[in-house]
Amino acid sequence: MQQDIDIEQLGDVECKICGAKYKYCSTCKEFKTIESWRQHVDTINCYKIFMVIQDFSKHNIDKLEARKLLVKCDLSNSNNFFSWIQYQINRIMADD
Ligand SMILES: [Zn+2]
Repeated sequence: MQQDIDIEQLGDVECKICGAKYKYCSTCKEFKTIESWRQHVDTINCYKIFMVIQDFSKHNIDKLEARKLLVKCDLSNSNNFFSWIQYQINRIMADD
């Protein structure tokens, strides 16, 4: 049986931060040929935001620490982020 695999059809996934579609192949993950963060997000910038929000929501870092890390990220596209991501960013950036 012939199996033609069209690479272009493989692993079309959505960034968990900005919702952008990108290619991710689970086979690449197994063989560690690309960075493992690619299974969650499309860019290093989205990955940084993802980590800050994850650490903050798990209480690994406090709000000030999260804010310090977040201001280093590019948030110029944040209007396009998923609403719960925007919510978390607003929570981190808001003064109590
Ligand atoms: Zn993204």
